[in-house]
Amino acid sequence: MEKAACHHLLENLAGYLDGEASAELCAELERHLDGCTDCRVVVDTLRKTSALYHELPQPELPPAARLRLYKSLDLSEFLNSSA
Ligand SMILES: [Zn+2]
Repeated sequence: MEKAACHHLLENLAGYLDGEASAELCAELERHLDGCTDCRVVVDTLRKTSALYHELPQPELPPAARLRLYKSLDLSEFLNSSA
């Protein structure tokens, strides 16, 4: 059917969901979504996943993990100077 249109939508999906796509492109993608159940399911799923992700609290990095991270980044001198 309209596989090329589906491909086009999927290629621009990240920008569309992030609100970075142009109004023209958004209208084009929404027109496709109106007639394509498959793509609508994909977009709905990604929207829910994205909303869930944004609702999660920022994880607190335990000091030991931060120390390991700094060491692995070779920032141990930075650690010492701030202590
Ligand atoms: Zn489609």
